[in-house]
Parts: sequence; structure tokens; C-alpha cells
Amino acid sequence: MNKLVRVNLKEKSYEISALENSYANIGGRGLTSSIIANEVPAGSSSLGELNKLVIAPGILAGTAVPNSGRLSIGAKSPLTGTIKEANAGGSAAHKLARLGIAAIVLEGCASELIYMQIDKNGVNFNKASDLSMIGNLDCIEAYRKQYGDDVSIISIGQAGEMQLMAAGVSVTSPDFFPRVAARGGLGAVMGSKNVKAVVIDDAEGENVRVKDNALFKDSIKAFTKGIASHPLADGFKQFGTPMLVGLINEMGAIATRNFSQGRFDSAGKISGEHIAEMIKQRPNAKSGHSCMKGCVMNCSNVFTDLNGEVIVSGLEYETIALMGSNCMIDDIDAIARMNVACNDAGVDTMDVGEAIAMCMEAGMIEWGEANKALSMIMEISKGTEKGRMIGNGCRFTGEKLGVARIPHVKGQSLSGYDPRGLKGTGVTYATSTMGADHTCGNALPSPANPDYDPASASGQGQVSQFLQRYFAAIDTLGLCLFASLPALDMPELQTHLKDCVSAVLNETLDDDYFMRLGAFVLEEERKFNHATGFTLKDDRLPEFFKKEPLLPGTSTFDVPDEELDKVHKY
Ligand code: SF4
Repeated sequence: MNKLVRVNLKEKSYEISALENSYANIGGRGLTSSIIANEVPAGSSSLGELNKLVIAPGILAGTAVPNSGRLSIGAKSPLTGTIKEANAGGSAAHKLARLGIAAIVLEGCASELIYMQIDKNGVNFNKASDLSMIGNLDCIEAYRKQYGDDVSIISIGQAGEMQLMAAGVSVTSPDFFPRVAARGGLGAVMGSKNVKAVVIDDAEGENVRVKDNALFKDSIKAFTKGIASHPLADGFKQFGTPMLVGLINEMGAIATRNFSQGRFDSAGKISGEHIAEMIKQRPNAKSGHSCMKGCVMNCSNVFTDLNGEVIVSGLEYETIALMGSNCMIDDIDAIARMNVACNDAGVDTMDVGEAIAMCMEAGMIEWGEANKALSMIMEISKGTEKGRMIGNGCRFTGEKLGVARIPHVKGQSLSGYDPRGLKGTGVTYATSTMGADHTCGNALPSPANPDYDPASASGQGQVSQFLQRYFAAIDTLGLCLFASLPALDMPELQTHLKDCVSAVLNETLDDDYFMRLGAFVLEEERKFNHATGFTLKDDRLPEFFKKEPLLPGTSTFDVPDEELDKVHKY
């Protein structure tokens, strides 16, 4: 897998070359970030011709390593102004790897709305005017009808076409549900390039060949057995990520009422346990669903209405926290409908959920008014003034409405964990290369590490630094982060995973490989951010987290600024 496909959108032409040496042996986030850092002028407009949109499967894509089909998408972000990578599951990463493609680099802008079809013969450019301002769901259905069930579709909804700053990029699962690389406005970058979709057909492609088969087989077996034996695996299968609702609420750290409380009185109504019960009673609903082939954790679900009509897949913790407890909404059916409306318009449920909370904080909607929140989300695809406002995310909405408490870092809304209860996660929000993003290093407690106190101010810089490096490496492998969590508790699994990589790259790797790889990725990203003018002073949480106690307790975010400044220097 070493083909680099450079697409000149203006000319509707492309070149395929071998991956340059400077990009050798990296993939996923490492590759998207290296290409952006080295090739996009730092001062260029995120929505201009000089920005590039890079689509890259991870190092392990196209192999039998479980959960290794995350697809990374990277660009300079219109939401944060920083470098950005967001990744999604689905079937595209494995298909690209089977075509031998390490990355597609979209350069320049097409003069009309197009879609690209990629197969073993190369790239075809086609007009997409008939799907202009069509949502992701109909877009997926149209291309599925045209190209059949064996393709994967990467697409944007109306939000991407309108270049709204919370627009994401959708990637289809094997059963054609959209999974979204949601964060950072990468859908707006795709929209600015006038690309509606990329359809990938891997017919006659080949799985990635591994040089050291014996090592590979043994390592996969041990890694798979290890992650499947971890208690998280069973929890994910039964309850999915919504199982975190009860846990984080119990800790007093679930985002509630625009990050003013850490406990939601109605948490039971939006919990993983409650959702799992609803799923058992509804026709066609399913827990233990997977978003890609080869997943052994199966955290996804298919959520239906009482008649068995699918509402959404998958309904996840972040959406439930930011559209539920943070907006004081406890109706899980309504949250599911808000979720699918976001998926269809092609926006991030987190930034838009927080934008709805801004509307509630400003008194435009009452707290907990699910129907009005859903109506506002439905306006995104119509491009009304209100729809565009919330489609531009939390900071834009909060500033427009004059809200004082806007929970964002570098323009990106916080995830569903309050940084006063999870201070390591707070350090990650502040210091990540991409604005507030829990996937960059979520410091959750674990029974395997009883000495770690997430609410203590002490030692969180080092915790966050380790996790930021670890997850930057995991994103570079293209591994789903949920499959990487057991390896934090069971270090021998890191060795097995490293041996899988070793067998794929045909290279001897030492035990420090993941830390070195993660540090390299972060350095590339920081280099770009520094060149755009970001400094340590930007690595801060909003002041209200330092001053206001997290109710019903008294905790504030009291990690000293000096500790934040050291995170990338330990
Ligand atoms: S664990 Fe969940 S997110 Fe990860 S690959 Fe499986 S279904 Fe997808």
C-alpha cells in the first residue's frame, strides 16, 4: 500500500506515484498531518485553493488486524484554524488499502460540483449537479443504487456544500449507514473543493501482503484474544459507548446544562442500560453492531422506532451527552432524531449540540425543549439564518448570541466530559493540536489503575502527554481507539500490536515505537500550528472552568497554566 493519488481538481486530472520517502511507513493521521504540515502554506485560507484535503487509511488497513479500518481525513480546519485530522469507521479504509492507495490528496478546487469514482483503473470525474444540496442519506442511496453494494461512499451533506464550519465528512459502513469524521469542519473543506462524494470500488483489489506471516498470525491472535477478554469488550457489545453515561454521571462529570453541572437528574433515561432495553423491545433494533468488517468490539447499535423503522446507527455517548444532558433533554428518541438530522445534513453532533445549548443559554429555546432543538437542526439543510448559525458550531453561535460561557478551545466545542471532573481530559482539551477533542487523549479512570485520580490537579500534564502520543499513534495505525483501550491496561497487548505493525512494515520496531510515532505526529502538527501563529497562550480552557465550581460539587479546573505549558515538553 504505497500509492499516493494526487488529484488536481481544477483540471480534473490525477497522478499516481509511489509514496515519497518522507512519507514512508506512516499512514492515517500521521500521513494526513505530515502532508498538510509540509504542503499547505500555514497562512492560507482553510476554504481556499491552497488547502488540501487528505484521505488516508491507516498503516494496518487492508490487513486482518481487528478494528483496523478507521479512515483519516485531514486538512487545515476552518473551525479552529489549526491542522485537523478526524477519522471514521466504515468500509472505505480497507477498500483503499486493497487498491494499494496510501492517500488521496485533493488539491485546488473544481469549478462545478463533482464526484469521483475510484477503482483499480484509476479515478473518474463525474458531474454531481443532480445531487446538489441533497443530504448524505439520499446521496448514499443514489450512489449505492448506481454502483451496487460493494462500494464505499465518502460524502458531504448540505452543510459541507454550504461550507459551514461544523460540517463533517460521512463514510459508509458495510451496511451503508453513515459514520462521520465529524470534527473540525472538514466537510466544509470538501465542499469548498466542490467534491460531493468519492465512491470507492475495490473489485479485484488485494488484501495487503505481509512479509512475516508467522509473526503476523501469532500477534493478531494474541492481540485479538487479549482485547476480546477485556471487560470493556463485553460492555461495548451490550451497551455501546452509551454505557459511559452512567459512569461519567456517577463521577459527576457528564456535560450538563451547558457545562454548569456534572450530574444530570434524568441520566437513567439516556443511559446505555436504558437504550439496550429499548433496543431489545423494538423490531429491527440491534446492540453489538459493528461499523466495519473485522471489528471485535461491536460498540455500535441500530436504533429504531416502535415500528421497527431505523432512526439512526450508531447512537453514541458524545451525541447523547451534548444533545441530551447538556441541553437538559432526556428523550432518547428525540436525541436519536436530532442525531440522524445531523448525519443527513452532515454536521458534527457535538459542535451542533453545544450550539443548541448556546441557544438555550441565550433564551432562544427553553432548556430541554427537544422538539424546538430538532426543528432548529432541520433548518441546517435548508440554509436558513438559524440553521447556518448552529451549523457553524458552538463558538460562532455563542458569540452571535452574546453568550458569556462558550465551552470551546481554539473554536472547537468540548466533548461530553467536564474538565473539572476529568482534569487529564481537560489538559488534553487545552493542549491538543486540534482544539478540544477527547479522542486526542481522554483520561478516564480504570479499575486496572486504581491510583489514578481524574479529579486531582496533580500529574495530569504527564498523563495527557502520554495519552496524546498514544492516540496519535493509534490514529496513525487506523485502529479504532476502542480496540486500543484494553492495551492501556494490558501492556503485553501493545507488544502484540507493535509486532503486527512490524510484520506489515517488515521492520524491527522497539518497545518505544508507539511513543516515538505519536511524538512525531504531534511534532508535525505543532509545527504547522506554530507557523499559523498559535502559541502556548492558546492552550487554555475558557476562564469559567477555572472560576465556577462544577455543581453539585466544588471542583474547578485548577491545573496550573505552567503545567499546561509543559505538556509537549516532558
Ligand atoms: S468498536 Fe465501535 S467504533 Fe470501533 S470499529 Fe467497532 S463498531 Fe466501529
